[in-house]
Amino acid sequence: MVSTQEVLEMASRGLDRSDALYLMREADIFTLAHAAEVLTRKFFGDVVTFVNNVVVNYTNICVARCPICAFSRPPGHREGYVKRPEVVAAAAERLARELGATELHLNGGLNPELAPEYFDELFRSVKTRAPRVAIKGPTLAEAVFYAKAWRVSVREVLSRWRDAGLDAISGGGAEIFAPEVRKVIAPGKATGEEWLDAARAAHELGIPTNATMLYGHVERGEHVVDHLFHIKELQERTGGFLLFIPVKFNPGNTELYARGLVKSPAPATYDVRVTAIARLILLGGLKVGAYWLSVGKRLASTLLLAGANDLVGTMYNEAVLASAGARHGATPEELAAIAREAGKLPALRDTFHRVIAVL
Ligand code: SF4
Repeated sequence: MVSTQEVLEMASRGLDRSDALYLMREADIFTLAHAAEVLTRKFFGDVVTFVNNVVVNYTNICVARCPICAFSRPPGHREGYVKRPEVVAAAAERLARELGATELHLNGGLNPELAPEYFDELFRSVKTRAPRVAIKGPTLAEAVFYAKAWRVSVREVLSRWRDAGLDAISGGGAEIFAPEVRKVIAPGKATGEEWLDAARAAHELGIPTNATMLYGHVERGEHVVDHLFHIKELQERTGGFLLFIPVKFNPGNTELYARGLVKSPAPATYDVRVTAIARLILLGGLKVGAYWLSVGKRLASTLLLAGANDLVGTMYNEAVLASAGARHGATPEELAAIAREAGKLPALRDTFHRVIAVL
């Protein structure tokens, strides 16, 4: 069995794909986690960051019908909605004032009813009502979709969004790049190649982005490794990624579950394995997120000892406005507690990963 020291020596020489796949499949999780933690401390120290942000779903109408999705509704569905820009802007303004949020995370679907002017107004309204709030989103998969729908280039979509006030792009839509997996989990959205091209275009336009990877469905180790190498290689070229976020698939209410392709969430040992291998491949090139919303708060703390060094965000949901007393998201104090539980030093950051306060 490979030792921590051997893993560290392999990582310091730079893993190639076959090394990474060997470790992903064969190394025990304690060895992987320990090596990943040593590297994380070497490159980033003990600080664990997160942003105070709010999530607003501006539309749930989507034509992609991904079998992994429990959120979207097809056009014409009675539960479909599009929020007016002034409603989104008012929510951003109020949540920034009441909860101290510094980032608006916009989430939506691939909605053919939305014209370029909708997004212009959306971003401008937010910037008018909440000028100190950074706008993050929509995803690169949305940029690819709207470029096709509006018959313009992805670069034109992104530069128009940037000029209207978009500050950064969330990492969603990356899923798993490998075509044989993508055709099962997300056949109706941007291909892996299109997503990566769009990320490159965003970075060249000065728009930083996150990158995600959805795992725990039908992928195998080689698909995880391939995905990570694509992220690493693009980061080495552009430096435009802010954060890599492994996102655990939750099969509830999805077509993948209904078809019997995924019966339950992946075990926690796999979460540790994926996080650790991400650190071993990315090394000091990129922060790795412990996405507490997908793995739960307790496991997020464990992942901070296995290569992760960012808790993504408080992720307040706008529903907080409609349900007095009900809590959606986590407070900065709760996230700080998760970091401390792992023996780390929590720090509040902004969208661009500048530390605002050490907690
Ligand atoms: S593109 Fe996004 S919103 Fe649309 S079905 Fe797929 S995962 Fe859901």
